[in-house]
Amino acid sequence: MKSDRHLVPLKPAMGPNGACPHCASTEVTATGSWFPGIHVLGRYTCRSCGSSFVRDLPVSHALAHPVTATPQGQVLDPQQVPEWIRDAFQRGIRDLKADEVRIERRVFREHRRVVVLNTLDFLYGHVLLKLYNALHYIDRHPDLGLVVVLPRMYAWLIPDGVAEAWIVDLGLGRLQGWYPAIDRFVQERLAGYDEAYLAPAYSHPDVAGMDIARFTGVKAFDPDRFNTEPLHVTFVTREDRLWFRNPVTRFLHRACNRLGLRALSGPLVVGDQDRLVKATMRKVRRHDPSATFSVVGLGDARIRMNGVDDLRTRSMNVEVEKAWCTAYGRSQCVVGVHGSNMLLPTAHAGACIEILPRQRFENIVQDITVRYEGRAVLFHYRFVGDHATPTEVALHIRSLREHRPVFMRNNHELVF
Ligand SMILES: [Zn+2]
Repeated sequence: MKSDRHLVPLKPAMGPNGACPHCASTEVTATGSWFPGIHVLGRYTCRSCGSSFVRDLPVSHALAHPVTATPQGQVLDPQQVPEWIRDAFQRGIRDLKADEVRIERRVFREHRRVVVLNTLDFLYGHVLLKLYNALHYIDRHPDLGLVVVLPRMYAWLIPDGVAEAWIVDLGLGRLQGWYPAIDRFVQERLAGYDEAYLAPAYSHPDVAGMDIARFTGVKAFDPDRFNTEPLHVTFVTREDRLWFRNPVTRFLHRACNRLGLRALSGPLVVGDQDRLVKATMRKVRRHDPSATFSVVGLGDARIRMNGVDDLRTRSMNVEVEKAWCTAYGRSQCVVGVHGSNMLLPTAHAGACIEILPRQRFENIVQDITVRYEGRAVLFHYRFVGDHATPTEVALHIRSLREHRPVFMRNNHELVF
């Protein structure tokens, strides 16, 4: 979080946001903001050609890919925007959801000048990554009250120091929609402030050194105790993103999925993933007999071995979230398959071994909360191929402990 791009002014006046898409004139007047959910847009009128348009304000994913459209929802710069953003934008703006949306306003401190951090998104990790931005405003902009807009399921993560939270009662799946009700709520609230800004809400903020306990209330693993604490490793499992033993099992499972036979292959591959996890545990214990383990994830707790806490469940609540975070926080290392469910584990654990399927190379590191800086990052965050063997994973776990003291002794930062 070293960069501090200017806040985006909403009130008393909005700032410039590019030229007219029709005539390229910069004589453009902002007539207001529009806050229907994930996107926050400005409404504009061109003083030169008289046309009106809407454009994403430069926050979050729109920093890299702002979309411009007619007020009726026709995207005007389709070539400039990746398909996944353009299509979702088009669907949203053309199919506005008339539903009433319950939004709870929690006021912790009254402020006349505020910065609004919009974390709304339909992807679990996107919300969390945007929420990480909150600490920057709490610590660096104490003159502004921070207003966090977030989905209900993240309310347990609201950090101390937030001025207000606007908690939106929509599940992630429904947050793809654009809701005039959300905009009405926001505009009503904005009217009450003297000054309001929008936070850039970086989608992949650099958070080295961040104290995750400010969100979860659970202390992260202290890296200074890497070799003095007994070894604990947490496996993060998913049934929808699996650790496959080999390409054949993956192929057969995918083929069954396509044929509607998931019920047949699902239990087999999930069971095989458990075997890979257990084999890794046994191999770790060959060198470190006192090692203990946790297993988390949405699923049935099935591993019954001494020294293994299988914390898997199919019903999530805040107590489960905290119990999982507590497991990460006592772990030198977490092991899991690439995906946004690795964000909180890596925010708390000392290190990580991630199974990264080749189809996900373009998303490398997006799902990791990187706690360190410089060369230490490469030491503590290790990526293995999609069919990594238990032997390979166990060797990395062993290496993290055995080789870390020498690595840390040798690792000197030069200041230029
Ligand atoms: Zn124009």
